[in-house]
Amino acid sequence: MSEFSIQPNIPCEPCKECGARPVIEQTRKGFVVKCPTSKKHFSTEPGMVNVEEWNRYNQTTPVIGNQIKIKAS
Ligand SMILES: [Zn+2]
Repeated sequence: MSEFSIQPNIPCEPCKECGARPVIEQTRKGFVVKCPTSKKHFSTEPGMVNVEEWNRYNQTTPVIGNQIKIKAS
C-alpha cells in the first residue's frame, strides 16, 4: 500500500502517542490518515482523507464545549 505525506500547508496535530506527523495511506477501502510509526497508534476510518478527525483525536488541549461567554450588558 502506498503512503503519501500530507502537504505542509495543511495543519496537522502531531501523533498523541509519539509526536510524529501523520501520513495518508491509500487502502482498498479508501484513504486513511495515520501515524507512520505504529499501526497501534490512531488512524482514521478508510474513506475520504480526514485530517479533521485525526486532529480532533490527537489535539492535546481539547476544547470542552463552546467556551463563549455572554456578557450581561
Ligand atoms: Zn504515533
